[in-house]
Amino acid sequence: MPASFQATRLAPSPTGALHLGHARTFLVTWWLARQAGARIFMRMEDLDAGRATAEAVRQAYDDLRWLGMTWDAYPGEAAGGEVVQSRRGHLYAAALQALWERDAIYPCICTRADIAAAVARSASAPHEGEASPRYPGSCAGGLARRAECATVQAAERAVRKRTGRAVCWRLRVPGEAIAFDDLIAGRQAINVAEDAGDFPLTRFDGTPAYQLACVVDDHHMGIDRVVRGDDLLPSTPRQVALYRALGWEPPQFAHVPLVIGADGKRLAKRHGESRIAQFRAAGVPAERIVGWAAWRSGQMDSLREIGAADLVGGFDLAKLPRERVVLGERDMAWLAGG
Ligand code: GLU
Repeated sequence: MPASFQATRLAPSPTGALHLGHARTFLVTWWLARQAGARIFMRMEDLDAGRATAEAVRQAYDDLRWLGMTWDAYPGEAAGGEVVQSRRGHLYAAALQALWERDAIYPCICTRADIAAAVARSASAPHEGEASPRYPGSCAGGLARRAECATVQAAERAVRKRTGRAVCWRLRVPGEAIAFDDLIAGRQAINVAEDAGDFPLTRFDGTPAYQLACVVDDHHMGIDRVVRGDDLLPSTPRQVALYRALGWEPPQFAHVPLVIGADGKRLAKRHGESRIAQFRAAGVPAERIVGWAAWRSGQMDSLREIGAADLVGGFDLAKLPRERVVLGERDMAWLAGG
């Protein structure tokens, strides 16, 4: 495994409170970075304007600092050096323009209902468990021509004028499998064209989609190792396709298996209290949560309290469980102080 890297990031979305699963994934990221002597930046992924709140932003910083994590100031950023996506629209717009000039993207007016109807008309049923059906490429033929519309904005205007509909942008994805070596999940090869089809890089309101913002920021921030939850594993081949379309080098990826409830689902209220802020408010010491995260990351044989900084020297990614972790009674009893 490539042991060294230069920079990674913590990238919370301020759309809800951070829970135990986030704490564990962020701690693993932090231990890896501090051990490697790499830089670790904070990036607030607040592009979901309808759901991101200032309170959740503040609480995410507070929760992570309380757990003992620190981050490096990103050059040029004020205050604590945090990178905030809602202030970086110019970078996403520039990448979109570069993609248009390379003929790598096209404008699309298909709503979810349009896509569902097109899929229903075709022979291919959506795969079981798929979040959304594969985009059948209805707009791939070109609603706007580059010869007539030099810029993304000109193309959007032309399409809106012709159709009266809002526009999003989709990446033309290659027909073959996209392979990458994940430091935890191993070799992956996923055919994005079959899986998702040409996926959107923007939303109809013009906001950059997660895939675009993530790739543009990771590239510009010099991130050469991405560590995140394995719920994002299906996004990674899409991001690799986008790196390639932009002519950029993808980082290394390490997808940490999630913490889940006994029912196999992502952590939620019905699994009991798992929000970091609530443990903090209840007087549970941060070292107890960190100890739990270290134990559940395979770094300690038994549960004990430990400071985040105390584990840096001995952290070993090879010991991280390769399966998802089911939160059970033992975890809850320990976290409750038992
Ligand atoms: N903001 C995303 C999340 O909280 C993480 C994105 C990433 O690490 O690429 O799920």
